[in-house]
Order: sequence, then C-alpha cells, then structure tokens
Amino acid sequence: MTESSSMIYKSTRGKARELGFKDVIFEGLASDGGLYVPSSWPVLDSKLIESFSDMSYQEIAYHVFKPYLDETISEDTLKEIIHHSYKNFTNNEITPLRKINNNEYLLELFHGPTYAFKDIAMQFISRIMDYYLTRDNSHINILGATSGDTGSAAIYGFENIKSSNVFILHPYNLISPTQRKFMTTINSENIINIAVKGNFDDCQNIIKEIFSDEEYKKSNNLGAINSINWARIMCQITYYFYSASRIKDNENIIYSVPTGNFGDILAGYISKKMGLKFKKLNIATNENNILDRTLRSGDHSIKGVVSTTSPSIDIQISSNFERLVYDSCKDSKYIQEIMHSLKKEGVFNLSEKSRSYINNYFSSDTATEDEVKDIMLQYYVDHDITLDPHTAVGVSCGKKQSTANDILVTLSTAHPAKFKDTVSKIISNDSFITDKVKNLDTMEENMMIANNNIEEIKDIINKKVS
Ligand SMILES: *Cc1c(COP(=O)(O)O)cnc(C)c1O
Repeated sequence: MTESSSMIYKSTRGKARELGFKDVIFEGLASDGGLYVPSSWPVLDSKLIESFSDMSYQEIAYHVFKPYLDETISEDTLKEIIHHSYKNFTNNEITPLRKINNNEYLLELFHGPTYAFKDIAMQFISRIMDYYLTRDNSHINILGATSGDTGSAAIYGFENIKSSNVFILHPYNLISPTQRKFMTTINSENIINIAVKGNFDDCQNIIKEIFSDEEYKKSNNLGAINSINWARIMCQITYYFYSASRIKDNENIIYSVPTGNFGDILAGYISKKMGLKFKKLNIATNENNILDRTLRSGDHSIKGVVSTTSPSIDIQISSNFERLVYDSCKDSKYIQEIMHSLKKEGVFNLSEKSRSYINNYFSSDTATEDEVKDIMLQYYVDHDITLDPHTAVGVSCGKKQSTANDILVTLSTAHPAKFKDTVSKIISNDSFITDKVKNLDTMEENMMIANNNIEEIKDIINKKVS
C-alpha cells in the first residue's frame, strides 16, 4: 500500500459524530437525521483526467474512488473489488455511449443484472461490505423497502454472500410482475422477499419503525442500503468521468438525468467539483416535479404523488437534494431549519443565495405523460431505438433545455424490457423484450406474504436470524 488519504465525513445537519469511509457505508443515515458528506471535495489532477480517455471503466472507477477511502482498504483490494463488481455486466464498456449524432448521445446504464442503473452501485456495495464483514468475522442483516428497482439490485448484489442476510419488503400486488420476478426468482439462502399487504409507504414505515428501535437494531446487527448511502453516490460518479473521456468537446456536454431521489444527478455535480469539465446538469422530472419548481421559484412544497409511466421517479421527497443545498451554503443551521419545516409543514422556500448557486450548475424541466409518449414514438420511428419511460423523461427535458451547440447526453437509467407492458403498448411492438425477461415468467418464485404489521415482520426476521 502506498500513500493513502483519509477522508472524513460529516453530517449535513452538523450534530452527528464524524466518521471514516467504512463506518459511513454501514451507518447510512446520520444520527441527527442528516446525510453524510465528505468534508471536502478531492480535485483530480487535470493530467490524470485527460488520461482517462485511454483507461477502462474499471480503471477510471479506481481513480475516482481512491480519495474517498482510507487505510481500511488496500489499493490491490480496491482494484479487485472493482473488477469483480463489474464482471456481471453484459457490455464490456460497462456504461456504453450510444451515439445518435454528433450532438446527442445516450449513456446506457442498464447493462447490469437487473436492468437499471442501481446495479452499478449495488454490485460494488455488496462486495465491499462483504470484504469488511468477512475481515472482521462479522455478519449483517440488511433491511430495505422497495417500490421497484433498488430491491432487485440489492438482491442480485447480495446473492450467495454469506456475511449478509437481506430482507426486502415490497407492497403485495402493487409492483409490476417483471419487477417482482427479478426479486423473487433468485434462489439464495440469504435472500428473503416479503410481500406486505399494504402500499409502499406502509413498507417504508415498517422499516423506519424497526430502525428507530435502537436496541433491536443493535442486537440484530441491522444495516441499510437505501438511496442516501454514500457509497451509492460515489459509485455513480465514475460514469460521468467515463462518458466525458469518450466525447470530444466535452466542455459542451449537458447531462440530462431522470431524477427522483437526486442520487444519480448529484454524482454528476460531484464529478464537476472533482475537476471534470462539462457545461451543465439538467434535472429531468415527470409530473412529480417538486425539484423543477424549486429551481424555478424556490418553492419546495410537497404535493400528492401522481402515478406516471415512469414509476421509479414518482416521488415527492427527494432525499439527496439536502446534500446539494448543504454544499451551496455549508450552513448546518440552515439545513436543520428547512428540513424541520419540510417535515412539519411539508414545505420550505429555498434561499435566493442557494438557488442562484444551484442554477449555475443545473437547469431543470418537466416532461408530461404526452411528451414522454411522443419522445418514445419519435425515437422508435426515427432512430429505431426503444427508450424506457424514465430515459424518455430525460430526453424530453434535455431537448427543451439544450441548443444546437450543446452536446446532449441523456442518462438511460433502465432497459425498456423492465417496463415492457408500458413500452410495448406505446410503440406497438415487443421485439425489445429480452430472453432473460421472458425466462423470468417460467421460473419459480420465492416470497413470503405478511400483513401490514410490524410484529409479523419482526417474527420473520427473528426466525431467520436466530
Ligand atoms: C432510481 C431510478 C431513477 C432515479 O434516480 P435517483 O438517483 O433516485 O434520482 C431514474 N430511473 C430509474 C429507472 C430508476 O430506477
């Protein structure tokens, strides 16, 4: 091992203790309710960034991750974990760019085992957690709720990993059959799918209640892998560096990102802080457009969630936005204030100072359901490309927020086959459905069905853990 930096992480709300990398990934949410952020952004040498054009995805990932880790992991171990994390991707480039023309690309993030970009982080997290747990002769019970893509990515990440049990709650009969089958057809001792007779909020509430019981949490070694986990953000930084290294004139790139919890696009902002040169990040939302409203007027008020064709971004509480607001002001008191207001009144108004800072880096737009359908049809007819509905949100908003001189790179966050019923109806064709998804229909499913009752869920956990 040569020289190693030692990144310190602190909470956006300023009241939790500072942690190193290993503790940050196992801790998840900070004890003061805030999110952990690095105490400063590491800037990569411009010569190193230039040399990325000759490096593989995995080599770039190594250089991006290194400044965020510490001496708890050696350089060789890190390289090995990265290598293993990306060997289950079906494309050698891991996140290939698909060129539409000189001014437009799709950055395909769906070549992992569960067809959505969540695999890029989850394949790494499961392995690095396993490394630490095995080294320390320890074991963890991971508990999560899913409305779609996070659950399957976690299940594939932790399949056959002996140091962890994984309990995933999903709302019974309320997710798409394809999403469910990605989770329930895995036959692995340590994976437990629980269908809860309730909705997604009920699942989420059960998890929150179980985690708020400190004693239960400690005695059962509970851990979380939800979207605010720092390692998930860190993993996603890589593909901004990767894609910019493959495009000439990268200073003109506008990245358009279909956005829900703000994890994916936050990684793009961090890449810029680390020295990557590009023009702007575009927040693409569907009709659940709290972030678009916030950037335009400062109005961050929670409305009811409407169901759209892009369910993974049907969201009103965008957790990782707190990390950006914190970075715009570095004022923990201000963050405590607005987050308190959000919780109590369902609204805050973003300060002019933070809003103008954020508008230097970001644009935003909203795609209506009609616009999403139009873009999907247009791409199918003009380019013979089948977009998933989330990617279509990204393309639609990106086109509205870019000009002919820009290079629009839309992050393609899911494979259309994961949303096959919606997509085939819109384009009246189903040749995009892969054998893997067809095979899911013939496989046996493993899941338990439980009532919306915390004691019943605890019983299931206790039986497995004891
Ligand atoms: C999770 C998800 C998103 C949103 O990503 P965030 O990091 O939550 O903003 C977009 N598209 C798909 C397909 C997803 O699964």
